[in-house]
Amino acid sequence: MIDRRNMLKIAGGYAIGWHVPGASAPVFSWNFEGGSLVKVETLGTDRFRCHVKGQTDQDGRNRQASWYYFCVDGANGRTLNFEMVDLAGEYNYHPTTGSITSGTLPFYSVDRQTWIAVDEGEYDRKGPALRYQVRVPSNRISNRIWIAHVPPYTTGDFERLARELMQSRSAGIETIGKSVEGRSIPLITITDQSVPLQDKKVIWLMFRQHAWEAGSSWTGEGLMRFAVSDDAKAIEIRRRAVLKILPLNDPDGVANGAVRFNHYGYDLNRNWDVVDPEKMPEITAERKAIFSWMDAGHPVDFFLTLHNDEDNEHLVGPPDSQWLPLLHRVWDAWAAGATVSPTEDAHLMEATTTAGKPGRMNVVQGLSHDRGLPAFEIEMRITKHPKLGRRPNIEDRLLAGQELLLAIWKGL
Ligand SMILES: [Zn+2]
Repeated sequence: MIDRRNMLKIAGGYAIGWHVPGASAPVFSWNFEGGSLVKVETLGTDRFRCHVKGQTDQDGRNRQASWYYFCVDGANGRTLNFEMVDLAGEYNYHPTTGSITSGTLPFYSVDRQTWIAVDEGEYDRKGPALRYQVRVPSNRISNRIWIAHVPPYTTGDFERLARELMQSRSAGIETIGKSVEGRSIPLITITDQSVPLQDKKVIWLMFRQHAWEAGSSWTGEGLMRFAVSDDAKAIEIRRRAVLKILPLNDPDGVANGAVRFNHYGYDLNRNWDVVDPEKMPEITAERKAIFSWMDAGHPVDFFLTLHNDEDNEHLVGPPDSQWLPLLHRVWDAWAAGATVSPTEDAHLMEATTTAGKPGRMNVVQGLSHDRGLPAFEIEMRITKHPKLGRRPNIEDRLLAGQELLLAIWKGL
């Protein structure tokens, strides 16, 4: 007969394993790709205060603390209690209590394949601080768990995807430039090469301008996997369209576990009204790739950048009403999907002028301003999703990518 009193309750079942009294304290680390934390204080037995690193811009402003990713060794069978602190910051120069709240509790994993949402926690707005508990199952393969703000997506994940995509005759990859720290900025092209280019629609897509938004990369991966698949709709899209995809637009930030600024502190989804190849080589490379394509006589029928947000889920267009009908067609198709639940009606964003204060133009405003492109931006939420009934996980993001491409294609 099994005595369940000492067993660990996990995910609706029981695992064989016990907490070992007197076992040595867990060891924290974050010196791996995408890892981020400042320090950990021990408050008591299996109670820890974790200081979130955050990141400021080139002027030391707009601190955002919406990324952490760390490993706990010696975790098996323990009930670990965490308190996340140093959460406050600024957004667009306005002070905030930060993005880490009871709505954005972490995910944890014992294998970095399956990420489990922590669903209970206590948020102290005054701190601000977020407290939660993780009951770690005893697994015999590893004595570790990983904890992150959202399921991570590293440059290693992208390299794995790129190798798989290159098995397809419909996909090609090139390097359009280097980041400040010398990492490649990739451009992926997906199309049926047996069909002449002049007969095709051209769709440019951009993912992961901000490092913390790992969900953007998972959505991009889902979109690309679907685009090279044997699905009849994907075959049709490849025959009638060219996909030009910028999947990883801040590779330094992703590798270093940064939040939303590049090596020098520049927001890569602002500053599209600034040309600075030294401080922002990422934007320089991306703009050059798009403009070179257009200067060679090719159209851009649709441009989209995809981001994550805490609560918002929406599609916005450039400050030009010419594109409103297209925006609404894509919007209606997108909002009908299983993974999308809009929080506001589709709308056009305001124009940002460079007069007085350069550096505030995002990619949509920049491409619209410079070349009149039908450029759009999507935000997808990381908090509990009304349609899904949970916080979106990797599988939801992958499906969202498929739904997104189908919506764009329907709208065009
Ligand atoms: Zn973003």
